Amino acid sequence: MDTKVIICMEEDDKAALAEAGRILQSGGLVAFPTETVYGLGGDALNPDSSRKIYAAKGRPSDNPLIVHICRFEDIYKLVSALPEHEGKLAAAKKLADAFWPGPLTMILPKSEAVPLETTGGLDTVAVRLPSHKTALALIAAAGGYVAAPSANTSGRPSPTLAKYVLDDMQGRIDMVVDGGEVGIGLESTIVDLTVEPAEILRPGYVTEDMLKEVLGRVETDRAVLDENSGQAPKAPGMKYRHYAPRGEMTIVSGEPDRVSAYVNDQIELARAAGKKTGVIVAEEALQDYHADVCKSVGSRNDGLSAARRLYRILRELDEEAVEIIYAEAFESAGLGQAIMNRLLKAAGHHIIKV
Ligand code: AMP
Ligand code: MG
Repeated sequence: MDTKVIICMEEDDKAALAEAGRILQSGGLVAFPTETVYGLGGDALNPDSSRKIYAAKGRPSDNPLIVHICRFEDIYKLVSALPEHEGKLAAAKKLADAFWPGPLTMILPKSEAVPLETTGGLDTVAVRLPSHKTALALIAAAGGYVAAPSANTSGRPSPTLAKYVLDDMQGRIDMVVDGGEVGIGLESTIVDLTVEPAEILRPGYVTEDMLKEVLGRVETDRAVLDENSGQAPKAPGMKYRHYAPRGEMTIVSGEPDRVSAYVNDQIELARAAGKKTGVIVAEEALQDYHADVCKSVGSRNDGLSAARRLYRILRELDEEAVEIIYAEAFESAGLGQAIMNRLLKAAGHHIIKV
């Protein structure tokens, strides 16, 4: 299959979006930018399209997809209308008023219209209304319901640029809509509204405190930051290793001076063993490290910058064939929690305290 690339920086590139919409309506796959990361889109109501998404990503078929819509009222087709679910829809409406369009995904009981192929066999559905203008126009052109996981091969870092989509998906999908670099850089926050109180299954730009302001009580699934919580993962995606670079990655937490001293020692050892080394650290600390490749996530405590740069850095470390990677730990409050969650998964939960 040839993967066609179209550049579409403006949502009003009508001809390009109409072509992408036709591909989606006829069961094909189109990768497109959103405000979080690039998504790999297929018609969410067509089981064949969902099967193709799993095949293109090499994704385990029990790891469900998020359905993207472009108007709030379209949620009613996706969600069960049984009277006992009214309260959940009311909570969804409140959250939508506060955070949609935007980087928040809600889990709700699914209707008959959503194929089990899209939900990984679950009787719940994940729904998001993104804010990216091109994404919204594309969803409308596709008929309103686009299943879109991140557009990476399963397990690799999510793509924040079209070229990273192509690295993974060239020849496997029909089209890539190139809209430049994404804004946020981390996947959406996922909140499960089918449980009481609502529970965060994946942290993101919309934080627990922001959700609490709207819903009152909200909890975060313990598996989010603690591999050994002893709890079975609620979101099937939580159990898979994710976002991983090819190199062996370790997170180091502690006082900045002790962290850099420890990491520099380890780097010397790795170098003596003939390995290429890399670090992922705050801008302020760049000078303190002696690795072959030093990557800055931006200023310390600038979560927005770290979110935007993280996946790109992980892919660049692969491009530069770095074999041993050390990353400074992040404060796990606010957006830092989402960043630490991704770092921990990228490192296979390998963290050292010094
Ligand atoms: P991605 O497509 O890479 O953004 O991943 C989507 C995430 O949403 C996965 O981790 C899924 O496990 C999660 N997800 C999607 N649908 C559901 C659902 N019905 N219940 C729980 N988690 C879900
Ligand atoms: Mg993903």
